[in-house]
Amino acid sequence: MNRTAAPAYLFTETGLDAMKRFIDGTTLFAFDLDGTLAPVVADPASVIISGPVKKGLAQLAGQAHVAVITGRARADALKYLPFAPPGLIGNHGAEGLPGWELRTREFTARARDWHRQLEGLLDMDNPTGVVIENKGPTLSLHYRHAADAHKAKRVIAEAAGRLTPVPRQVSGKYVLNLIPQGAPDKGTALAVLMREAGCAKALFAGDDETDEDVFRLDKNIFSVLVGMRKNSRACYYLRSQQEMIRLLEEINEAVSAKKCPGNSAQI
Ligand SMILES: [Mg+2]
Repeated sequence: MNRTAAPAYLFTETGLDAMKRFIDGTTLFAFDLDGTLAPVVADPASVIISGPVKKGLAQLAGQAHVAVITGRARADALKYLPFAPPGLIGNHGAEGLPGWELRTREFTARARDWHRQLEGLLDMDNPTGVVIENKGPTLSLHYRHAADAHKAKRVIAEAAGRLTPVPRQVSGKYVLNLIPQGAPDKGTALAVLMREAGCAKALFAGDDETDEDVFRLDKNIFSVLVGMRKNSRACYYLRSQQEMIRLLEEINEAVSAKKCPGNSAQI
């Protein structure tokens, strides 16, 4: 897979053939939630995973290792998922990872302290439409509903730059995520999940900047970007979130075919 080129559209004969050759019994299937399993919506509490995606995901979980790695807190993600995947990682990789329990408590204390600092720095008496979401180990500063999004973005960047200790900043769609330095990112999370599940390879689909931490992993990852972004490190892309339905169908078909007795590609 050529990672120096822009992602290629997945639903071509070449793309699908590459995916089918990649998938075998050692493949973990991992997905981001917002913008990937579900369309991005203005109000994150209104997110809906469509019936066909839920069905495809449940079918896949019945025959393969499935994980969800989301920017949401785990408890929040569980409200929208059709089932609790064994590998459900929240907070962009910083919540729910086996072996990281103590550190996660440290990250949560740090985020709580940043929250306190931000309430002073953002001048809550003079609101700019910025909403601070405390998700436990990380914070998300939303400005989707700000009257002046440019101004809100600038105010947030200035405030985030004055926090101590300095957070890792990851931008998203009308959101700035503040993540403790040293917290596992989505790439680290996926690598740990693969090890835990005994999977040598993984197919991962995601749409956001934080998903690039997975796309940057150097090997044994079949990466699918949802929506096109030329500078992404993903190998393949889907044109829209609606194409997740077909992606799950194609994956399920490939997994079933490789399990079919008598098939030459049997695993
Ligand atoms: Mg996303």
